[in-house]
Amino acid sequence: MTTRSETQTTLDHLLTEIEHRNPAQPEFHQAAHEVLETLAPVVAARPEYAEPGLIERLVEPERQVMFRVPWQDDQGRVRVNRGFRVEFNSALGPYKGGLRFHPSVNLGVIKFLGFEQIFKNALTGLGIGGGKGGSDFDPHGRSDAEVMRFCQSFMTELYRHIGEHTDVPAGDIGVGGREIGYLFGQYRRITNRWEAGVLTGKGQGWGGSLIRPEATGYGNVLFAAAMLRERGEDLEGQTAVVSGSGNVAIYTIEKLTALGANAVTCSDSSGYVVDEKGIDLDLLKQIKEVERGRVDAYAERRGASARFVPGGSVWDVPADLALPSATQNELDENAATALIRNGVKAVSEGANMPTTPEAVHLLQQAGVAFGPGKAANAGGVAVSALEMAQNHARTAWTAERVEEELASIMTSIHTTCHETAERYDAPGDYVTGANIAGFERVADAMLAQGVI
Ligand code: NDP
Repeated sequence: MTTRSETQTTLDHLLTEIEHRNPAQPEFHQAAHEVLETLAPVVAARPEYAEPGLIERLVEPERQVMFRVPWQDDQGRVRVNRGFRVEFNSALGPYKGGLRFHPSVNLGVIKFLGFEQIFKNALTGLGIGGGKGGSDFDPHGRSDAEVMRFCQSFMTELYRHIGEHTDVPAGDIGVGGREIGYLFGQYRRITNRWEAGVLTGKGQGWGGSLIRPEATGYGNVLFAAAMLRERGEDLEGQTAVVSGSGNVAIYTIEKLTALGANAVTCSDSSGYVVDEKGIDLDLLKQIKEVERGRVDAYAERRGASARFVPGGSVWDVPADLALPSATQNELDENAATALIRNGVKAVSEGANMPTTPEAVHLLQQAGVAFGPGKAANAGGVAVSALEMAQNHARTAWTAERVEEELASIMTSIHTTCHETAERYDAPGDYVTGANIAGFERVADAMLAQGVI
């Protein structure tokens, strides 16, 4: 039997090979390290996982598509962006994962997101594989008409790669209800099919599921609450710092408030707002969802309790809980040090890979409960899968039913991560628990389905 340290050496060689084979993709390297550095105990304990080629197949996408997206701005000028869809792993079901529209998008970013998605989707216990896509298009400051033309051009290529049984995209940064609407419209037009299950995050009345917009943020708060419960605490009266002010951040703040916590911050790329009285969600939604404005407008209109801090780190604000909900690597070593100094009890990732590896290490060393994104933010994709189920059955569930299912899935993910970590001698380590539990489910399916 191979020891854990021999197995880790093999995994380390593989990581070096991944870096060579995928140059200039630092985010993908980071995501691969994060997973492969925790797998030695399970690979050493179960020899079938050491089978040559299994992990090598897991880190290589089944398919990667890159394409040109030409579109015309309101002045008639032709713009050219790049589109991506990485279909990473379909052992458990059709590829499933969002589309991100942000200028920082490149192949490495989409591959890191797609890789994470494989394990996250496995953790939900539902039948969905892992994929991700997007474009370096920046929707900020673009008119609705420009966003529509871009989405139509994007879908004119993407449509041939997706389908309800093949690959089912959804939203992510820069892709919300408006974009999903334009994308779905173009898909329907090109294919002449009402194929509701081809995209999730659709609007109410044309195939969308109730609670899908809320699901990622709500789910993350439920995960944080479950971690606190393990320590004999609850959310009531806790102060929370939340970053971002998009879909995930807004519904994180909503659920925190509903469960008695005080969410005192939000942010965007211009800076952050701290509001001692707790974030006023009606005002934030008006500014972000209706006016598509910046967070400084919140402080201007809110009055004395709120102030806007341009630039700066939201993690300097003292709090019991931190829920990063903006983007990758937004919480670094300095931020973790500040959070620990201020007595943070739990950090739960709404965003994907928002905490750098060094910061995760510091938090775990300090005994802070740390919920990794692939577990903590899985509520969004879980309700997307429930949207697919409703589409397939041509039915629509009540909000109560969807919320109950979401709560039960989040509880089950928490229990799975917690128990798996204990089983592999890492009690309380949700990173190890999530990686191993997600890996086991995908690896078992891949082994059963042969070398493909
Ligand atoms: P949105 O586009 O709705 O909001 C993103 C927010 O993060 C905005 O406030 C944005 O500010 C901020 N942000 C984005 N990039 C940066 C950056 N480079 N620097 C500073 N701020 C930034 O996206 P979502 O809320 O949907 O997604 C947020 C995170 O949650 C992402 O990591 C996403 O992958 C993850 N996630 C989302 C899910 C979903 O269901 N939507 C599911 C699971 C995870 P600005 O407008 O100034 O750019």
